[in-house]
Amino acid sequence: MQLSNQYANLGEAFSQTIDPESVALPALLLWNQPLAEYLGIDATSPKQLATYFAGNERLPGSTPIACAYSGHQFGHFNPQLGDGRAHLLGELTDKQGNQWDLQLKGSGRTRFSRQGDGKCALSPALREYLMSEAMFALGVPTTRALAVVTTGEQVFREETKPGAVVTRVASSHLRVGTFQYFAARQDHEALSTLVDFAIARHYPELADSKNRALALLDAVIDKQITLITHWLRVGFIHGVMNTDNTAISGETIDFGPCAMLGVYHPGTVYSSIDSQGRYAFGNQATICRWNMARLAETLLPLIDEDEEAALAKAEALIANFAGKFEQAYLDMNAAKIGITKRKAPDGDLIIELLELMQSHKLDYTQTYQVLADTLSSGSPLPAEFEGLEEWVNKWHNTLQQRSIETNDAMQLMAKTNPVVIPRNHHVEAVLQIVELTGRTDAFDAFLEVLKQPYETLPTTSNYQDTPADGDQYYQTFCGT
Ligand code: AMP
Ligand code: MG
Ligand code: MG
Repeated sequence: MQLSNQYANLGEAFSQTIDPESVALPALLLWNQPLAEYLGIDATSPKQLATYFAGNERLPGSTPIACAYSGHQFGHFNPQLGDGRAHLLGELTDKQGNQWDLQLKGSGRTRFSRQGDGKCALSPALREYLMSEAMFALGVPTTRALAVVTTGEQVFREETKPGAVVTRVASSHLRVGTFQYFAARQDHEALSTLVDFAIARHYPELADSKNRALALLDAVIDKQITLITHWLRVGFIHGVMNTDNTAISGETIDFGPCAMLGVYHPGTVYSSIDSQGRYAFGNQATICRWNMARLAETLLPLIDEDEEAALAKAEALIANFAGKFEQAYLDMNAAKIGITKRKAPDGDLIIELLELMQSHKLDYTQTYQVLADTLSSGSPLPAEFEGLEEWVNKWHNTLQQRSIETNDAMQLMAKTNPVVIPRNHHVEAVLQIVELTGRTDAFDAFLEVLKQPYETLPTTSNYQDTPADGDQYYQTFCGT
């Protein structure tokens, strides 16, 4: 295993070269062996792994850095963010030749730390590990988690908490905010370097484009539309879609205040600081478009020397966002009800179902399982779902008229609709057990089930029971 330092080599303007802070007593709590094997990380002792992934010792070839970036946080531009508690160790090349960033989070202060302590508490490190691996298994583009190392140190939040370092694996850590950082400084040369880097890493097929910046913007928009559509498919609420948390790769990044949708309502929001519902479940596409407009602004000087021409070209792409998203969104929703070749009238059927789920306060994940059951067993709807009866008849008729085989519809639904999602109350429960006891059995058992989210659960499993209070009082918190 030998890390490369391509991002570090872009130069001083892009990052600070700085080693992680050593921790007192590193202990390997979680290790993602399948991912380690996929990445070609050599087998070594848990002790050595803890030393590496606490940041106490450099991995072979690694020159750790903290990356510079800016970002719009809840709509307000902050020119100076950056890795305030994270270190990019370098890049690993897997057997297929793909490159992956290895990043420690909670690994100490950097020049971007501002008032922060550079640390991470155990619970958010565990959440990142669990949620990112669950999302990966759900088929959602996402960063992943390789390790959680406990530090043997306390971190001070509202109370004292055990500290941890989580290792994140991402296809890169380029964010919309990275481009904003250099745009704010009018550093066109650095912007151009970023465009080249992003194209080489993520979009090599664009290398020969006539207008590379515009082609990149177009490709990132498409990737983001795909991403948000997946979030909406599985019921994911990111919670803090600031531009510094929007990856150019189109991967889900930063699992701070994220949560899952239970009862269907587009206004659902759990983040304690999102009082306006800016990042509510059903607002995520609109925010994504807004973030893409911010990316577009940074690229204007590279898109065309003529300001007006640049603006016109960028605006055309942003203007297309809504239409593109709607098509992707309706296709995804059609697949959720077993329809492959969507036709225009299916839109009404789809919207009607969503409205029924909302008015009858039905669980989003359960609803699609119940719908699939009507195809497989023909049994009547469970009492709670009786309000869907008329709709179900209409839907069955549509499938018939369209000559869609029941089996084909069932297969499509089975791979589109998860049986198991990381329900908020179960996530909180397993995190708390680890925090209180230091034991990971319950966490591991839950994660094992989350790794096969489209498989039928044994009837003895309670992982899919809905929360007693309907998550009415549930709250999530940012970067603690
Ligand atoms: P996040 O909310 O995780 O997206 O972080 C937003 C910004 O705050 C980033 O620049 C982080 O590096 C920084 N940050 C968050 N928590 C800390 C911390 N404990 N110490 C230093 N910087 C932090
Ligand atoms: Mg972040
Ligand atoms: Mg965070």
